[in-house]
Amino acid sequence: MKNLMRWLKYPPMALLVGVSIGAGAISVLAADSEKPQITLMRAGSRPLIDGPAENFTGKARIDRQVRPDDPSRPMGSMVYFEPGARTAWHSHPLGQTLIVVSGCGWVQSEGGPKKMIQPGDVIWTPPDTRHWHGAQASVAMAHYAIAEPLNGVAAQWMEKVTDEQYGAQEQTKCMTWMTN
Ligand code: MN
Repeated sequence: MKNLMRWLKYPPMALLVGVSIGAGAISVLAADSEKPQITLMRAGSRPLIDGPAENFTGKARIDRQVRPDDPSRPMGSMVYFEPGARTAWHSHPLGQTLIVVSGCGWVQSEGGPKKMIQPGDVIWTPPDTRHWHGAQASVAMAHYAIAEPLNGVAAQWMEKVTDEQYGAQEQTKCMTWMTN
């Protein structure tokens, strides 16, 4: 500091130090403007997409909320099933987590029992496991679905769930405190 003060007594040196501090301030500003910015998607700004008829029975609507840029990989969607609506049989190459948000539904993996799912339930389906999920026959159901794609594919779709497999007449009571 003592040396710096001494140099500043010489006008050419003071000018040099001043320019260098000024350049530093500019580069800091430039670095700030190059920092990645937060993306804010307002509620209601995304269109709901109809679940494709070849992959769903009944009406399901999908809000594809989480579609991050590389290198982040998880994809997340809210899926709204009307009463009786369900996915076709399918699997996920890296598995899938479902979080039930409202209503009352079913989930089943091939060869396993059909299980009632209700708000707050969290369901993990392991990679390459055939399964389906959907609403009960008389109640809508919404779940959040999280999966990572492998080579750009997050789900392998198969045949529809038949009415017999679905068991349309079956009902199971479940919590309705978050139903919409
Ligand atoms: Mn699934």
